[in-house]
Amino acid sequence: MTATRVLVLNSGSSSLKYQLLDMRDSSRLATGIVERIGERTSRLKHTALTTGETRETAGPVADHAAALKAVAEELGRDGLGMDSPELAAIGHRVVHGGSSFTEPEIVDDAVLAEIERLVPLAPLHNPANLTGIRTARSLRPDLPQVAVFDTAFHTTMPESAARYAIDVSTADEYRIRRYGFHGTSHAYVSRETAKLLGRAPEDVNVIVLHLGNGASASAVRGGRCVDTSMGLTPLEGLVMGTRSGDVDPAVIFHLTRVGGMSTDEIDTLLNKKSGLIGLCGDNDMREIRSRVDEGDEQARLAFDIYIHRLKKYIGAYYAVLGRVDAIAFTAGVGENAAAVREAAVAGLEGLGLAVDAGLNAARGDGARIVSPEGARVTVAVVPTDEELEIATQTYALVGASHDLT
Ligand code: ADP
Repeated sequence: MTATRVLVLNSGSSSLKYQLLDMRDSSRLATGIVERIGERTSRLKHTALTTGETRETAGPVADHAAALKAVAEELGRDGLGMDSPELAAIGHRVVHGGSSFTEPEIVDDAVLAEIERLVPLAPLHNPANLTGIRTARSLRPDLPQVAVFDTAFHTTMPESAARYAIDVSTADEYRIRRYGFHGTSHAYVSRETAKLLGRAPEDVNVIVLHLGNGASASAVRGGRCVDTSMGLTPLEGLVMGTRSGDVDPAVIFHLTRVGGMSTDEIDTLLNKKSGLIGLCGDNDMREIRSRVDEGDEQARLAFDIYIHRLKKYIGAYYAVLGRVDAIAFTAGVGENAAAVREAAVAGLEGLGLAVDAGLNAARGDGARIVSPEGARVTVAVVPTDEELEIATQTYALVGASHDLT
């Protein structure tokens, strides 16, 4: 029997998201999430897409090991168990791969040790990712586990884009540079955009705008990332749901010296209490848009700041690329908020950028073009699929290094 299934695991600090895919046709067999791991009120929601059945269970799940065992049981009830010979590999999302990981890796002790060494760069995410890998490994020690890094796609950035202009020896000692995140999404969306244009990725220059709760932009030349808006951490760049994006670093000194705030307080302020929620109390773009429509000035200002930043990055990446074939909007806001797409390119006709009002407002599931016919730059909505990208990269790697038949 050929093993064609890939289980994708995304382990957060208190959650475990999973999807089981069949790589023969990239179809989903099951999907689910365990939330509030380590609390009394944990909850598992599992959907078997083979039957359409959804089951929810509540009750304490002590840790990630217990969570993955519960997931394995749920999969087993649908005949999709982790002990199945059809399972080819488990693909793990790993947030920080530093400069070392430029490609996905089959996990061995050396890879685990390197992910561990990178913990100081992603103190919340990498430990959770490691726990997920270790747990999966103990459940199926015989199965290849693949680590797919959020940073890997951005390792092609030239030094001129990746380095901050700070003292080189200090930067090197503390590994301070721009790593970028959402890499699987930027990789997937830039490739899908080329497909939409009917051209090879090597021939196309794309600006990808991943606008979810977290948000990042990237400049992709011929399939390779040459710049991205997130930096050492996912805090830099665009205005996000709860993160500030770019600020003058002196804001931090000021808050320390004049505001008497601690490092942890400022960290929380900039990561959790800023961005849209800090500006207007809401981080959901639907809510903000309806407040704008009702004439709410605070929501209007938040929206305007969000768009102003977005436009600056479009302009910057236009300049970085020199020639732009397409701009792709993706993730929750990018795929759904027509008003954001319209405002982001408004006034940029001189750069060949515009949306067609009808096409932009129309709803649709797949990748679609929203710029007017014959436009110099194609503006597109390209739904992202990070799980599929992780599964595809995992399967490609495992298929290349193992005889699966
Ligand atoms: P993440 O994966 O970063 O948590 P998503 O990519 O799922 O986020 O995006 C979530 C965000 O997408 C929500 O916070 C909301 O602002 C926005 N969103 C989702 N649906 C819509 C919609 N129909 N219109 C406008 N914004 C939307």
